Amino acid sequence: MGTVIHRAGWVVVDPWTVYPNGYVRVEDGVIHTIGQRTTPAISTDSGQVRDHGDGVLFAALVNTHTHLELSALRGRMTTHKGFGFWVKDLIEKRALLDNATLLKAAESGIREILASGCGAVGEIASLGLTLGPMQKSGLAGVWFREYLGDRVSIPEYRETHPGDLPVSLAGHAPHTTSPTVLTEIKCRTRRQNTPFSIHLAESDEEMSFLTTGQGSWKDFLQSRGIDSTSWGLPVESPVKYMQSLGILDDRTILVHVLHADQADLNVIHESGAHVCLCPRSNTTLHGRLPDIDGMIRTGIPLCLGTDSLASVNSLSLFDEMTFISKSFSNIAPERIFQMATSGGAAALGLDSRMGSLAPGKEARLAYCDIQAYRPSQIVEALVHFGQTA
Ligand SMILES: [Zn+2]
Repeated sequence: MGTVIHRAGWVVVDPWTVYPNGYVRVEDGVIHTIGQRTTPAISTDSGQVRDHGDGVLFAALVNTHTHLELSALRGRMTTHKGFGFWVKDLIEKRALLDNATLLKAAESGIREILASGCGAVGEIASLGLTLGPMQKSGLAGVWFREYLGDRVSIPEYRETHPGDLPVSLAGHAPHTTSPTVLTEIKCRTRRQNTPFSIHLAESDEEMSFLTTGQGSWKDFLQSRGIDSTSWGLPVESPVKYMQSLGILDDRTILVHVLHADQADLNVIHESGAHVCLCPRSNTTLHGRLPDIDGMIRTGIPLCLGTDSLASVNSLSLFDEMTFISKSFSNIAPERIFQMATSGGAAALGLDSRMGSLAPGKEARLAYCDIQAYRPSQIVEALVHFGQTA
């Protein structure tokens, strides 16, 4: 691959460090140096210079939570009749689509992700279809095989492409998956030293079921052949339930966390677990937002995901950042950009490879044609680059 010197009007090294007229020198796909261009520095280099333009060059974004497998459901879902209806609608509509259709839409989703400045994803696959397309695409990240229910057999883990696209396991959620299955999955990922992901504290239905052990969700599980009578419910809260199962640690990604009081946030913080925020999906499906201010105050490591095209209208992390910025005007743009870059890389265990521009990291670069006059405007412009309609 040789030496390539990428040049742009602005280079975002990390959310708090922006170089005007910067360059990134890449050797064999790995970042060698980052700096501000001076004529002698460039002219003495023997590598090829790629001038991107006067816009902004930055480390590719990390979408920590998505379901590319559900991309074919874009625009087909009923989202205004409540979460319970949406879940049943999703199961029914997905069952009507064959694997070829799901795969074609997933491949289109991957292209959309790559085109929107993103270089890595946490892909949650409950059907197990998207590993091949991800490997072919060059998209980095972690591919999670997701399980739910109370009687599942989890095949032996296989390291498919070491160092390239790690494969791990995810539990769906505490209201769909038995504690035995969740702890088995977490133990496997702990042995493998890979991240574990779970949807947590997302819906009113989950809260009601976990804190009573009864209700319409229990009936729904029964209709799906899942018997929850031995799950040890009720529990005080989803977060404390996960703590009691030994699932919380710094390799666990808790997705959504819409229902958490300060005691829950303290438990998450003490465990070192990451929270992945998907606020556009939360607004669509639940009409509420997570307590991001409280999470930041408590010191919880945060990252961002778009969730799937079954609940949002794009897989762009720019759209997610812009939505957060408009919904939480007190959160600094740099903090939001950090969630979308190094926060995601840390959650996926990829922070030595990506998430910021640093020597030794992979040269997964993205470029936006943003014009600005001062370094202080750059990250804010990136965070506002998305659409919120
Ligand atoms: Zn999800």
